[in-house]
Amino acid sequence: MAFFFNNHLARELKSEKQAREELDRSKRALLNLMGDLEDRVKERTRELEETRQGLEARVKEKTADLELNRRAIMHMLKDLKGDVEKLRVVDKMKDEFLSIISHELRTPMAPLLDYINILKEGLVGDFSIEQKKIFEAMYRSARRELNLIDSLLDFSRLERGLFAPHKTRFSIKNLIRDLVENAQLAAKESGVSIKLGEFEEVEAEADENQISRVIAQLFDNALKFTSGGGKIEVSAQKTDHEIRVKIKDEGLGLAKENLEKVFDKFYQVDSGYSRDKGGMGLGLTICREIIKAHGGRIWAESLGLGQGSTFCFTLPLTSSPLSPPSADSFPSPSKMERGSQ
Ligand code: ADP
Repeated sequence: MAFFFNNHLARELKSEKQAREELDRSKRALLNLMGDLEDRVKERTRELEETRQGLEARVKEKTADLELNRRAIMHMLKDLKGDVEKLRVVDKMKDEFLSIISHELRTPMAPLLDYINILKEGLVGDFSIEQKKIFEAMYRSARRELNLIDSLLDFSRLERGLFAPHKTRFSIKNLIRDLVENAQLAAKESGVSIKLGEFEEVEAEADENQISRVIAQLFDNALKFTSGGGKIEVSAQKTDHEIRVKIKDEGLGLAKENLEKVFDKFYQVDSGYSRDKGGMGLGLTICREIIKAHGGRIWAESLGLGQGSTFCFTLPLTSSPLSPPSADSFPSPSKMERGSQ
């Protein structure tokens, strides 16, 4: 019995010892693991700290760059503001210069044209056919010069915002009939016929001088770009809210990409050809501004080069109060030697 008990006790003690040793091993392994873990956490913390410091340095660097750029932009803006101001002053000086120079050029030209006209018409005595031809040529050149000066003057008015229309009521039909009559001689000389197309008797409420200016310019262009044997047809119609005037020619025509561009200032499709014909690329710009100031629209239509062009404009049918003409109103086409006599 005692042997059995001792044996049992010895076994118990042995397994307890083994269990303690096992526990010690596990404890040591756990301690090692914790040590490892602690080292890795320290390592990661150090890495993170380095990354944070790196990022902080880059943020500082970028902030400094941004600040530098901001200062440079502020500087540029200040310079630009100064430049814009300078440009504004120069632009104003250019407008004034343009206006003064045009007036100074126009003043002697108008009487000169009248005197040449007197000579050409034989009002102060007879001249030989050769002399008359010379007067005709002088008259045409002087008139062309005057038209260019007038375009510059109109353009200068346009740039200074002096386009307010002074509206009265007038018959569009009568106005067009007069302008067609004015253009007949020049048309005959170039072998082009001008015809009145469909017409409705309609009263416009607009600035008559300005609208004459537009129609005369469209006639001028139609004549300039139509060769002998061609035809120009003008018509006017009324819808329930607007008057539509159309001037159709059988001339040079326009490519699609130029239909809008021709209204841009100084734009000429073929500048050599147009300048030869006595233009500066301002006529249609002036027409567009006049029509815009009346609340209407103006546009060009053409099936392409060689297919003729049609220029159309509209005027709204309104019944707004009429304003009296002012000194800044346009001179009438006859005063300006407009139209194509
Ligand atoms: P310009 O006085 O130089 O003719 P415009 O502003 O009146 O200036 O016209 C601008 C350009 O539009 C012209 O140079 C020409 O190329 C084109 N153009 C105007 N009217 C016609 C037309 N009836 N047929 C063909 N081209 C035209």
